[in-house]
Amino acid sequence: MGKNIIVQKFGGTSVGSIERIKAVADRVARTAKSGNRVVVVASAMSGETDKLVKLVGQITESPDPREYDQIVSTGEQVSISLLALALHQAGLKARSYLGHQVPIVTDTIHSKARIVKVDPRKLVADLRKGAVPVIAGFQGVTESGEEITTLGRGGSDTTAVAVAAALKAKVCEIYTDVDGVYTTDPNLCPEARKLDRVSYDEMLEMASLGAKVMQTVSMEYAKRFMVPLHIRTSFSDEPGTLIVKEDSRMEKQAVTGITYNKNEAKIAIRRVPDRPGIAARIFGPVAEANVVVDMIVQNVSADGYTDLTFTVMKNEYKQAMDVVKKVAKDVGAGEVEGNTSIAKVSMVGLGMRSHSGVASRMFDALAKESINILMISTSEIKISVVVDEKFGQPAVRTLHRAFNLHEKPKEE
Ligand code: ADP
Ligand code: ASP
Ligand code: MG
Repeated sequence: MGKNIIVQKFGGTSVGSIERIKAVADRVARTAKSGNRVVVVASAMSGETDKLVKLVGQITESPDPREYDQIVSTGEQVSISLLALALHQAGLKARSYLGHQVPIVTDTIHSKARIVKVDPRKLVADLRKGAVPVIAGFQGVTESGEEITTLGRGGSDTTAVAVAAALKAKVCEIYTDVDGVYTTDPNLCPEARKLDRVSYDEMLEMASLGAKVMQTVSMEYAKRFMVPLHIRTSFSDEPGTLIVKEDSRMEKQAVTGITYNKNEAKIAIRRVPDRPGIAARIFGPVAEANVVVDMIVQNVSADGYTDLTFTVMKNEYKQAMDVVKKVAKDVGAGEVEGNTSIAKVSMVGLGMRSHSGVASRMFDALAKESINILMISTSEIKISVVVDEKFGQPAVRTLHRAFNLHEKPKEE
């Protein structure tokens, strides 16, 4: 049955008004009428989840995680039922489903739950009857069936990919407010160019480094289950970007995309005693506090002491500082300094495996614009630098130009 199943995911803007919802219903009807079985996943209408998060914030800064999920998951209940009604008007049979009605089973970590299973039975039964299931993105239910969970901001992408994997869909189409994946965020850099194809690994890196067009976890799923993805716009029929298995042509370009992330903060511990076991004593308690550490840099030791600098997510910064100040004292280190006005700019490309000199070209380009680099980290297919926040966007534009990303390479 999987062969003619298409999963269509509509982001907030695509269902942002009644007019848009009607347009989405027309698209789904067209897809269904050309011989496909369609399963829809929808986000809340644009701005709605933000509004809910804000309401919570007006009561408490640290909400009970269960209640937080109960509230922020409600935006999707509105959009899916409006969409189901619009589909009825377009002449289709359709049924909306909340996460627990499918069910989409997750672990118990509220506000960043992981999907452990999608039960395809009701969806398959609907498809057999010629009906379109319309599933709420972003939400799930715990194994016991008792608690509602959410998958983290942007989590509808993950719902769509997991549903596509469970149904072995021929494609998972992600409809969003841009018409594909660009060399960098087109809202930050007008010279950004749309890419026809991107590999799973590159898209996973780009997502995790800040390209919010796909949620990172959704790309982990897509890669693991090889879900064919097509990222496109609901405003036209133009083809978007295909996420595909890598091939040899993709390595010809050194750099595929540039990402920008200002959601991290930097913490530096001065004069850390340079002895075996100290790093473990510092990062152990940080991990125990469930704080995710990203980049770590340790300076060369001088007179038995070293500086240790690392980055954490901004929303975990306060918690991290509390823990770090305490352990710094315990291990006999010096001052702890924090900086929340930083930005991380990264370049991603499969071609970095075979092209040398990418890093030096990057540093050169930044130096010419007098952009100071605070931290550097590299892996097989990416190079990241941390800069002062005010240099973040200029750095993206500088690098885009320096690597000629506005020009379509012949190989593509
Ligand atoms: P949706 O509500 O449809 O899920 P999102 O706002 O989550 O949409 O994601 C789309 C946004 O991702 C775009 O508006 C764009 O600003 C941003 N974005 C960041 N990097 C890229 C990129 N490389 N290509 C395309 N869009 C990007
Ligand atoms: N509505 C949720 C959010 O705004 C999920 C999503 O849009 O993917 O984060
Ligand atoms: Mg999104």
